Amino acid sequence: MSGEQKVVIVTGSTGLVGSAVQIVAKKEQRPDEKWVFLSSKDGNLRNIEEARAIFKKHSPTHVINLAAKVGGLFSNMKYGCDFLRTNMEINQNVLQVSHETGVKKVISCMSTCIFPDKTTYPIDETMVHNGPPHPSNYGYSMAKRMIDVMNRTYHDQYGCMFTSAIPTNVYGPYDNYNLEDGHVLTGLIHKIYLAKKNNTPFTIWGSGKPRRQFIYSLDLARLLIWAIREYNDVNPILLCVDEEDEVSIKELAEMVVEETGFKGSVTHDLTKADGQFKKTASNAKLRSYLPDFKFTPIRQGIRETVEWFAANYETARK
Ligand code: NDP
Repeated sequence: MSGEQKVVIVTGSTGLVGSAVQIVAKKEQRPDEKWVFLSSKDGNLRNIEEARAIFKKHSPTHVINLAAKVGGLFSNMKYGCDFLRTNMEINQNVLQVSHETGVKKVISCMSTCIFPDKTTYPIDETMVHNGPPHPSNYGYSMAKRMIDVMNRTYHDQYGCMFTSAIPTNVYGPYDNYNLEDGHVLTGLIHKIYLAKKNNTPFTIWGSGKPRRQFIYSLDLARLLIWAIREYNDVNPILLCVDEEDEVSIKELAEMVVEETGFKGSVTHDLTKADGQFKKTASNAKLRSYLPDFKFTPIRQGIRETVEWFAANYETARK
């Protein structure tokens, strides 16, 4: 972004990713950018008239679209239809109103869990629509895939620059630490926090064997801000750590145990589902733009997140 004044609105800015975008954007504020941070309190983006009112009020030139219904494996398995409908409605409305009001660029978030279940590895940006997603998050995945379809059709029919980022598993402060509905790492942090506090054993749900690439929310925020400024391609871009930085859930649990100083026993509940075994993604496209980008080492990110959770236990979403 350069030249005239930009107004960047960030939808979903109270969530895990949006909170990090707020922190980084405020720190790296440029004089020609005005940032506006929105949550559902500013309007329900499932309703197009409320979306129109938000855009009328702020006249954005750029949009980072993070508003979404997001949840972990177990929540996705239980409420698939809600995930499908909510995300379809939010994205349809944000993109349509962006088109109506002449927004210059929108970047929305997809997710690596939307890739085909049966695939070759590493996954890359060309594979989004190659086959059905894992059945555990069918509703969320199909709604997210439609972002890419919408981006292409708005581009082809109207010339809009609407694009998408594909982050892998995100973690960090301000996540949803709910034990049933949250993401894997936040669930581990909360469970180990409680096990330590109550002097009880800690149980990992599933075998701990699945492997994931975790990205720290503040790193993702830096990349999303780069993308809204510099990335001008309708095709999605994977925002993830290098392939060799993939870790198993068991390794992750061990890191959390060490960082929290938990000394009790660790068991597995093998009646709980594992989800997809791995989703290794390539960041070659990202590296072609930003070869020197330094990701926060996962151990440091976990340490900061564990500290944040302990310091904010009363107010954290859980
Ligand atoms: P969170 O659940 O932490 O935050 C969701 C945000 O969306 C909140 O600010 C919430 O506002 C807002 N929101 C939800 N519903 C509405 C609505 N109807 N109208 C307006 N705003 C709404 O999500 P994350 O930060 O984790 O995710 C951000 C994006 O990144 C999403 O698109 C997600 O799919 C994607 N992503 C996330 C990953 C992860 O591991 N977390 C992985 C890959 C992609 P309020 O606080 O007011 O409810």
